[in-house]
Amino acid sequence: MKERYDFLIVGAGFSGTVIARCLCDRLNKKILLVDKRNHIGGNSYDCFSDDGILYQKYGAHIFHTSHEYVWRFLQGFTRWNNYRHKVIASVNGKTYPIPINRTTINRLLNKNFTKEEVQAYLDTVKVVLPEVKNARDVVVSQVGELLYETFFEGYTLKHWGIHPTELKAEVTKRIPVRYDDNDYYFNDTYEGIPLDGYYRLFENLINHENITLVLNTDYKDIIDSVVFDRLIYTGPVDYFFDNMYGELPYRSLKFETETVNMEYFQEVAVVNYPTENDFTRIIESKHMTMQRHKQTLIMREYPMAYGEPYYPIPMDSAQALYDRYRQEACKLKTVYFIGRLAEYKYYNMDQAVKRALDLFTEIMHGE
Ligand code: FAD
Ligand code: UDP
Repeated sequence: MKERYDFLIVGAGFSGTVIARCLCDRLNKKILLVDKRNHIGGNSYDCFSDDGILYQKYGAHIFHTSHEYVWRFLQGFTRWNNYRHKVIASVNGKTYPIPINRTTINRLLNKNFTKEEVQAYLDTVKVVLPEVKNARDVVVSQVGELLYETFFEGYTLKHWGIHPTELKAEVTKRIPVRYDDNDYYFNDTYEGIPLDGYYRLFENLINHENITLVLNTDYKDIIDSVVFDRLIYTGPVDYFFDNMYGELPYRSLKFETETVNMEYFQEVAVVNYPTENDFTRIIESKHMTMQRHKQTLIMREYPMAYGEPYYPIPMDSAQALYDRYRQEACKLKTVYFIGRLAEYKYYNMDQAVKRALDLFTEIMHGE
């Protein structure tokens, strides 16, 4: 007789593993967790290089949140280091803090503005618009054309392959503008990297007798031979529906790693190249993991039009196509769609965890 599962969960990233754990711990459900990759953790996965350097395989992942219950939930599965993220942009051989702050502006303009003078300067250069409609508007309406062109236009074009005027405002709204010298990237209450790495966090999340893990498996290859009551899907939504309305656009990436024989390669974990090179940024994981090692590992991140889907593209035409899939998804009463790919949303990790916790609450109330 075949094994029977309460839930088949597709995808072992944050969305899939968090809800799997909640369903076992709180409702004693039996779970089959399937991922097509050869590891758990989804895009937040980290591992050691051949030289023993811990790095995040799919680009820099810094956990940050202001959701108290998300942070509290994860305390059960990891401790955190006290890393706080900093980013600099490299333009014509000079470096500038990102988000734009007082130092960025003074260095670019060769000035020595006070905080109040920075504010006054921005008031004179910001573009007054009747409505902030897209990713370009967000930036020029706060900092004007020069700062937009220097730090945002080229980077955004390279990263998304789409002009900022075609992208939704939410894309650049993620980045604050500061008048003072604060050069931290995020404003959230909590921030850090799991003390023993993300992989260990995911191992702890799925370490439960009710969870059976199957890797290297596309769920479509096994779904007909598995007996289950409900499905939680965290893969690409268009793939689930066999692309019935056409393929959704995703932005992909290529990561090129290099081990360098020096303790540190760059000043901070992420250096952006808004105007030069084919890659957008260079990531140096040791700043984040705080690992001590005589060598370092850097990773150049190249945006790609095709390949593994990493980013849903926040633009109106893609949203309209996604809405058609969402309507199909809503018709399925025993299938839940959560996560960055299944909901076609530019979620950060904490938002994926929140969504999983919220869906769990909804399922629990329906029991
Ligand atoms: P994923 O992690 O993508 O997991 C989905 C899983 O489903 C994958 O493991 C995939 O293999 C599996 N899957 C897909 N299709 C199938 C199938 N057919 N069968 C079986 N399995 C399948 N967030 C932050 O908070 N901070 C950051 O600094 C940050 N940096 C990022 C940098 C980059 C370059 C990227 C791409 C993302 C970044 N994120 C960051 C976002 C973060 O990666 C996501 O929020 C998070 O991974 C979402 O988790 P998820 O479980 O929804 O999706
Ligand atoms: N961005 C930019 N220049 C920068 C940093 C960000 O143009 O130096 C824009 C770009 O469009 C990017 C968006 O702001 O996609 C959001 O940046 P974030 O760092 O949140 O992107 P992610 O880490 O998710 O790729």
